[in-house]
Amino acid sequence: MAETSYNSLEEERLATCSVRPKCKAPDDDMMLRSIRTGRLLCSKCYVHTPTGYIGSDEAKASDDRYFKGTTNDYVIIAAIIFPLSLVACTVAMFIDVNILGGWFGWMIAFMIGSGAGTFIARTARNATGKRVGRQSAVVAIGAVALAALMAPSVFYFISGYGLFFNLSTLDLAAIICAAGIGVVLYNSFMRRI
Ligand SMILES: [Zn+2]
Repeated sequence: MAETSYNSLEEERLATCSVRPKCKAPDDDMMLRSIRTGRLLCSKCYVHTPTGYIGSDEAKASDDRYFKGTTNDYVIIAAIIFPLSLVACTVAMFIDVNILGGWFGWMIAFMIGSGAGTFIARTARNATGKRVGRQSAVVAIGAVALAALMAPSVFYFISGYGLFFNLSTLDLAAIICAAGIGVVLYNSFMRRI
C-alpha cells in the first residue's frame, strides 16, 4: 500500500470508509484492507468473499453488475428446472424402489442428482442468456423442492396406482436426488464474480 498522510490507521479508516456514517465506529481493532481497493474496512462494512475481504459497498456494486436477471428469467428457469428435476427424482426413486434399495439406492440417487444438476444448470443458464437474478437461486431451489415432492405421485402413476397428488408421500431417494441437483444449482447461480 502506498504511504498515506494519515497519522493512524484509525484515522485513515474513518476518512476513507465510503459506507459512512454507519462505519464511524472506530472503537474496534479491525484493520483489514479490501483486496479490491485497499481501503481499510471496519467491522460494520466488511464482506467475506472466497478470495478475501472487500467492502460491503464494493460487494453491492459487484453484485449489481452480476445480477441482471429479470422476472421473465425466473419463469424460464423454473419451467426448465422443475420438469427435468422431476424426471431425475422419479428415476432415482424408481431405481431405489425397483432395482437397488437402501444405501446403494441413496448413493445412486445422489449421483443421479449431481449429474442431472450439472446438465440442468447449464440448460437453465443458457436459456436465459446466462443472466442471473438475485432470486435465481431461490427460484431454482423452490423448483427442485417441488419436483422432489411431486416425484412420488409421478412414480406411483407410472407404476399403475392411478393418478393422485399427495404431497405427503415423501421418498428419501427422490429427496436425496433433489439435494444433489440443488447443490449444483445453488453453486451455479450464486457464484460471485
Ligand atoms: Zn466501514
